[in-house]
Amino acid sequence: MEYYHKNELLSRDALVALQEIRLRNTLERIRKTAFYRKALQDCMKPGLCSIEDVPLLPFTEKNDLRAQYPTGLLTMPLSQVERMHASSGTTGNPTAILYSRNDLNTWADLMARCMHMIGMRSHDIFQNMSGYGLFTGGLGIHYGAERLGCLTIPAGAGNSRRQIKMLRDFQVSSVHIIPSYALHLSSVFTEMGIDPRELCLRTALIGAEPHTEEIRQRIEKFYGIKAYNSYGLSEMNGPGVAFECQAQDGLHVWEDAYLPEIVDPTTGKPVPEGEIGELVLTSLCREAMPILRYRTRDLTRFLPGECACGRKHRRLDRILGRCDDMIILKGVNIYPMQVEKILMSIPEVGQNYVIELVREGFLESMRIKVEILEGCFVEDMRVLRGLQSRITHLLRDEILITPRVDLVQPGSLPKSEGKALRVVDLRTKTQG
Ligand code: ADP
Ligand code: ZN
Repeated sequence: MEYYHKNELLSRDALVALQEIRLRNTLERIRKTAFYRKALQDCMKPGLCSIEDVPLLPFTEKNDLRAQYPTGLLTMPLSQVERMHASSGTTGNPTAILYSRNDLNTWADLMARCMHMIGMRSHDIFQNMSGYGLFTGGLGIHYGAERLGCLTIPAGAGNSRRQIKMLRDFQVSSVHIIPSYALHLSSVFTEMGIDPRELCLRTALIGAEPHTEEIRQRIEKFYGIKAYNSYGLSEMNGPGVAFECQAQDGLHVWEDAYLPEIVDPTTGKPVPEGEIGELVLTSLCREAMPILRYRTRDLTRFLPGECACGRKHRRLDRILGRCDDMIILKGVNIYPMQVEKILMSIPEVGQNYVIELVREGFLESMRIKVEILEGCFVEDMRVLRGLQSRITHLLRDEILITPRVDLVQPGSLPKSEGKALRVVDLRTKTQG
């Protein structure tokens, strides 16, 4: 196997042994902060004998990071810190993440490793279409591509026509793009009368937001490329935590750098192997701001068995959504990705949709606004009604409640350049 870093080839035993060493170092290091000194004192087992003891260590939650803002979790003088990022604040106040020179170095290496794994090499020309600034998808991915030696274009988010012009003028071969933006950009390609399959594009890194296999397939087909799922979060550096290999069958978590666990989101106890739960991550190589057992709020599971690529780093299933995104309607639990999976499997459905939760009197209901493809949006009411009822039935079979489906014209729903907002809860606002 071709590899970027020798740790990609470690056996399970060697990986676990390395994790233990790095976890011990991390535990020693985080005691420099008053927050972790106290947390470790209060927990059942402040020391560590083996990886099996990890569930006895304390969790770190987003609120802890907010409370320790800005430098409470820092283990070195601020003068040695070289970068700050912040989470995008999709779910509340931002939190600051600090990096030492070594941290930036490790992170760039991890990112380069991901890109190498999907076949990118130094001759690739790479356009990063995610927002720069505090969002880690900008600089984080940028430095990974440079580390690999690629010509790296910091295109940033938005400005679609210019993006397309650069893709063409520089014969860009790989891109990083948020999936919802990739779908939006496809309509700009169509508008401009350019077929992306005639460009030099080969690979895309897609991630930063939950998306289904159906979305990936749409992207791959439209652009004529391979698209690989990229997962990360600022609390664990940013992108480069887990990444799909060329087998496209789950995301390898780089277990030499992160210690993953899956726990029950309500009890915090480990779930049986292979079951869905909340991903918990411990950083094993971070120096400035190590984080212990971080509750990501992201739902996934470990995939069973070994990957065809031969790497022993365990694989995560694609993220189902955040615990906070789970919709509870009439007592039924629904994940937005279940809705997306159905919608995107219907050929007439366009690029965008929004799920609205509403309350009328005591009745709660779900309203789904769905963009229909150009050309399918015909004047004939019967055709539209037929489509509407087909979508409604397919959704009902999947989510067990009957949503109201509104078909809308292509491009009429609000689009974001960053992460898409898929669920709008109007239940507290609408009074019956
Ligand atoms: P915020 O939590 O404010 O959005 P981040 O920019 O750190 O800040 O985003 C990290 C989060 O983005 C993850 O916890 C996860 O919910 C989501 N995310 C990132 N990559 C993926 C991916 N490949 N699939 C699904 N969700 C993802
Ligand atoms: Zn693999």
